[in-house]
Amino acid sequence: MVLQVQSSTYEAKTQEIAKQLLAVTQENRSFFASLRDQMRWDDKLLAWAMSNPGLRVQLFRFIDTLPALQSKSEIAAHLQEYLGEESVELPPALKGMLNFANPDSIPGQVAATTVGTAVETLAHKYIAGENIKQVIKTVERLRKEKMAFTIDLLGEAVITEAEAQSYLERYLELMQQLVEASKNWAAVPTIDEADGEKLPKVQVSVKLTAFYSQFDPLDAKGSEEKVSDRIRTLLRRAKELGAAVHFDMEQYAYKDITLSILKKLLLEEEFRQRTDIGITIQAYLRDSEQDAKDIISWLKQRSYPLTIRLVKGAYWDQETIKAAQKHWPQPVYNDKAATDANFEAITQLLLENHQYVYSAIGSHNVRSHARAIAIAESLNVPRRRFELQVLYGMGDKVAKALVDKGYRVRVYCPYGELLPGMAYLIRRLLENTANSSFLRQNLENRPVEELLAPPILKQSPPLPLPPLSPSLPRRDGY
Ligand SMILES: Cc1cc2nc3c(=O)[nH]c(=O)nc-3n(C[C@H](O)[C@H](O)[C@H](O)COP(=O)(O)OP(=O)(O)OC[C@H]3O[C@@H](n4cnc5c(N)ncnc54)[C@H](O)[C@@H]3O)c2cc1C
Repeated sequence: MVLQVQSSTYEAKTQEIAKQLLAVTQENRSFFASLRDQMRWDDKLLAWAMSNPGLRVQLFRFIDTLPALQSKSEIAAHLQEYLGEESVELPPALKGMLNFANPDSIPGQVAATTVGTAVETLAHKYIAGENIKQVIKTVERLRKEKMAFTIDLLGEAVITEAEAQSYLERYLELMQQLVEASKNWAAVPTIDEADGEKLPKVQVSVKLTAFYSQFDPLDAKGSEEKVSDRIRTLLRRAKELGAAVHFDMEQYAYKDITLSILKKLLLEEEFRQRTDIGITIQAYLRDSEQDAKDIISWLKQRSYPLTIRLVKGAYWDQETIKAAQKHWPQPVYNDKAATDANFEAITQLLLENHQYVYSAIGSHNVRSHARAIAIAESLNVPRRRFELQVLYGMGDKVAKALVDKGYRVRVYCPYGELLPGMAYLIRRLLENTANSSFLRQNLENRPVEELLAPPILKQSPPLPLPPLSPSLPRRDGY
């Protein structure tokens, strides 16, 4: 049986707003812009990745190994090895470029330089800077465009306690430098205040697993103690500086322990009145609506609101493959429409409870944002209690359109060296080139009615949830 999940209450308004936003994202680009894009190799890599699934896999494998390759000859040899496989159908331009006899030859070196530079340019699209100085420049540009920011420090898996301590210290340094820089920033009323309340200009986003090298759901007590100590230090310093802190959500295995640690900590006397802190919920999880309800009940007891950032979830492939390999039931929905429908249901739940929770809607999907605006406007949700968020480099056009409509938009800016940032880059590329991705479908100029249609899903019974797993990759960005 096919089920129409959305109530029709907000649908007309959603469609009206979504059509306006979509029109802006689809505005004709100038002749020069499209000419420039035709010449760009980074855009070509993306287009190729979308055109052929076999090539997509090999291209992303190659990009993953790229930072470890030491010389142009190594890059050229790997290019041929990864992309020269018979199963990979190559576009003529790439085929021509890979047609060299040996990696040390001039054509080999040219291929290595061209592709290496293209990948670096691509990385710079999604990574807001390689160091604090660069990321400060980026956020200053964003502020000129009337956009707020949150900054994430990209990193490799935290394996030792020294690395976990260093992660904390780098965040303390980051906050300090940002706050120092912010003293010279001109005020932007639409993002620096709301309903008469001053909002922190600086916000950072952190991952709990990076605060303790042995973070493990099977050692909940030990993990909690170690992580909580470092978080207390972070939150105390953030308060002294006047910065806000948001907690990202990682893989499913860490979800319950993350929520449990944060709920306990944020009830402590010292932190209970803080309202400048946020938690993330992933709508692709089957238990996310219940989690959102539980957090709202908990916030009612706490008496002071926090932000919930609602996202769909970035580990879909990983969660699906892992559960299948281990013969566990899937923790995530297996139908994109189910995730979309759940996202809309939780958006509504959060906004209906705006006296207890500040909502931050994180997406690049025009319909998802339009739905949130339709509900917020219908319920007269105060501006302090509602904002829209995008990832750096992924939702530029929709972000600008939302700012022009008068909404507070926050851009999530990851920064760090390209090597630890590569996993983050691959995840963004996977997302942008997936068939089901809104951004890809919009680029393919699908009909407006299809792009903005309410999510429709087939009815199926919910699956039981899998047990926790102790051994997951960590800190690979999301
Ligand atoms: C500001 C911000 C902060 C973020 N923070 C986090 C975070 O802390 N943790 C995190 O995990 N992610 C985070 N993300 C990433 C987010 O989870 C999504 O990956 C990303 O935003 C893509 O979703 P969309 O709504 O933009 O696009 P859409 O194209 O509408 O949706 C794509 C998403 O749908 C889901 N999906 C895809 N295929 C299927 C399928 N077959 N069945 C079910 N579901 C499917 C996946 O979640 C996929 O990412 C953040 C995003 C933003 C904008």
